[in-house]
Amino acid sequence: MTDRPARPPRPQHVLHVVGTERLSPHLVRVRARGTDLSAFRESPHTDAYVKITFAKPELGLEPPYDLAALRETLAPGDLPVTRTYTVRAVSGDELTIDFVVHGDEGLAGPWAAAAQPGDRLVVSSPGGGYAPDPAADWHFFAGDESALPAIAASLEALTPDAVGAAFLEVQSAGDQVPLSAPPGVVVTWVYRGEAPAGATPVLVEAVAGWHPLDGRGQVFAHGEREAMKALRDIVFTRWGLERAQVSLSGYWAYGRTEDRFQAEKREPIGKIL
Ligand SMILES: Cc1cc2nc3c(=O)[nH]c(=O)nc-3n(C[C@H](O)[C@H](O)[C@H](O)COP(=O)(O)OP(=O)(O)OC[C@H]3O[C@@H](n4cnc5c(N)ncnc54)[C@H](O)[C@@H]3O)c2cc1C
Repeated sequence: MTDRPARPPRPQHVLHVVGTERLSPHLVRVRARGTDLSAFRESPHTDAYVKITFAKPELGLEPPYDLAALRETLAPGDLPVTRTYTVRAVSGDELTIDFVVHGDEGLAGPWAAAAQPGDRLVVSSPGGGYAPDPAADWHFFAGDESALPAIAASLEALTPDAVGAAFLEVQSAGDQVPLSAPPGVVVTWVYRGEAPAGATPVLVEAVAGWHPLDGRGQVFAHGEREAMKALRDIVFTRWGLERAQVSLSGYWAYGRTEDRFQAEKREPIGKIL
């Protein structure tokens, strides 16, 4: 078996924060402006995502970062680090990203919680893999706060006559955000209460009580890795869906940084689908 050639890095865009807004106790919206966002405006995906690169400020590195060259010169602990985030919206030269604020741990969450106008944000060109299929007979969404931006954007893109369901896990009712969904798509908020995110079965239990509608449906389910593994079993084994009907992955893993989690995903044992 030959090794797959490494993907060339996506071009980097240097943006600057123009404003932030607390959408809920655990979600902060960051708006940032750049010069050429055409690649974002042209994305057909409602789950379009970017890799944000964080460099240690004290090293004075200037973007775009040549990671291959930096690997030759910097100690591993000084290398810029990436985090993956959904493009919640793009309008003109402004990009909107909604970050989960999950405490003091990590890089991106604390960065977003403290972001100020003028701060630099280095993002890759967008990737993505899902958009609602107007030919689907029903639509199903499930996720925690990390998938809320992608699910919110997907709900907005459904046709007015779309039917289905969305299950969204948040800590409490105070974390609900307004969504724009067609009347035939029933939105259920699921509360985990004081239990830490990623450590409760509440989302899976709620989804287990739902039954697919008639016809051929489409599923978008993303969030904490263990919950997604359990949802994978419901969707394929219980509901009998085919791979082509389903977009499902771990967006993060309880107790692991994204670097560790992404490394696990490259191993056979770390794959969900
Ligand atoms: C395609 C894709 C799109 C994504 N879109 C979004 C998005 O729009 N908004 C968003 O907020 N996240 C999104 N995520 C998830 C985000 O990339 C991870 O949550 C990431 O780990 C956050 O980085 P960090 O630096 O804040 O924390 P890390 O340094 O990666 O982790 C530090 C600690 O925080 C924990 N942690 C990480 N994320 C969460 C969380 N959401 N809740 C509770 N604990 C957590 C980890 O388990 C670890 O213990 C997306 C992921 C993918 C793959």
